[in-house]
Amino acid sequence: METIIETIIEGQDIQNQQKIETAAKILREGGLVAFPTETVYGLGADALNPAASKKIYEAKGRPSDNPLIVHISCMEDLDKIAVRIPAQAKKLAEHFWPGPLTMIFEKQEIVPAETTGGLSTVAVRMPDHPVARDLIQAAGGYIAAPSANTSGKPSPTRAEHVALDMDGRIPMILDGGAVGIGLESTIVDFSEETPMVLRPGYITPDMIREVIGEVWMDPGLVEEDSGIHPKAPGMKYKHYAPKAELILVNGAQEKVQQAINYLTREAIESGKNAGVIGTDESCCGYHYGIIKSIGTRNDEDTIARHLYGILREFDRENVDIIYSESFSTPRIGQAIMNRMLKAAGHQVIEV
Ligand code: AMP
Ligand code: MG
Repeated sequence: METIIETIIEGQDIQNQQKIETAAKILREGGLVAFPTETVYGLGADALNPAASKKIYEAKGRPSDNPLIVHISCMEDLDKIAVRIPAQAKKLAEHFWPGPLTMIFEKQEIVPAETTGGLSTVAVRMPDHPVARDLIQAAGGYIAAPSANTSGKPSPTRAEHVALDMDGRIPMILDGGAVGIGLESTIVDFSEETPMVLRPGYITPDMIREVIGEVWMDPGLVEEDSGIHPKAPGMKYKHYAPKAELILVNGAQEKVQQAINYLTREAIESGKNAGVIGTDESCCGYHYGIIKSIGTRNDEDTIARHLYGILREFDRENVDIIYSESFSTPRIGQAIMNRMLKAAGHQVIEV
């Protein structure tokens, strides 16, 4: 299959609309289209068409028990796919939709088991990206879309990343440039008594508490090595991983730098191709291997935005081992560390 890449160009409204209409037609006919959202690129299919949803699992190599998020473009469309929507969820929607928040509800009959990984619940998000929203509307209102990467790889934050993983597997990629946030949405489960965060993201538990009061964290997330299974099936799989081994180094900044310099030199001496993930502030203190800045500690949003792209850059440069600083900052730091720990298979050196 030939994969066509259509670029959305600012100012070319008519041409852009035509490109989105072509993509929507593919979706309405049961095909797949990758498209930009504000979090990461999604791999979309008509969420109400079981055969279409199935194609997503094939293209990604995704385990069939890992459900998809259904993307909508307006509030009125929620009732058709979800039942028992609590007032708290509506309040969160008012605050954070469109935006990087996914909510889980009991599903309506109309949502096929192929879309929900066999679960009786459905995950729903209204993205805040003009291309995504126009596409959802033109395609009929409901697009099932996980991240548009091969299962297990870092999520794509640019159309080029999608092309690397999906070329020849899907008919079309809509290129809307680099995404704004760079990490997948926060997931909040409303299918049980007390709302629970199943995946951390840009919208933090504190931001949620400010709007609705109490929210729990999935214990399987908090104690990831405890053997408790996280409730979101996707959170149990190895994820976001570059080809190289990734090791996080945690401690006081000066000690971290010393340790990373020592470890990279040692790796290079033993014949390995080594990489370093530092920040704008720290990179000048590293001396060995391929050194990359992930962003600035003064604005941790930059770190979130560049994380997956940097992991993919190291893939391209055939690095064997990457040593990275760790980022347990508040706010989005929790989501960043959740992804980095997974990418590292929980390998952390404390110094
Ligand atoms: P992705 O879109 O690739 O970021 O993956 C979607 C995430 O949402 C995965 O971690 C899924 O396990 C999770 N998810 C989707 N639907 C549900 C659901 N009904 N219940 C629990 N988790 C869900
Ligand atoms: Mg994903």
